[in-house]
Amino acid sequence: MRCAVCGGAVRLQNVQEELIIGSDHYMVSVRAEVCQSCGERYFSERTTAKLVQLQEAIQQGRIKGEVIGRVYEVAK
Ligand SMILES: [Zn+2]
Repeated sequence: MRCAVCGGAVRLQNVQEELIIGSDHYMVSVRAEVCQSCGERYFSERTTAKLVQLQEAIQQGRIKGEVIGRVYEVAK
């Protein structure tokens, strides 16, 4: 498979995908095909479905994450 954006080679690897719900960010470890040139990520249908299910579960309060850091906004 070649990257649809830049034509680069893609490789299956572990990535941390970010789900943003309101002002909260949830990091989820999944497998994705990643372009080695531009970094574009390609998810399988199964992984995409899993991410959607996770997002719904978090929104409904069925799954809670571990706090791993904070997000700050800084005025310039
Ligand atoms: Zn690419």
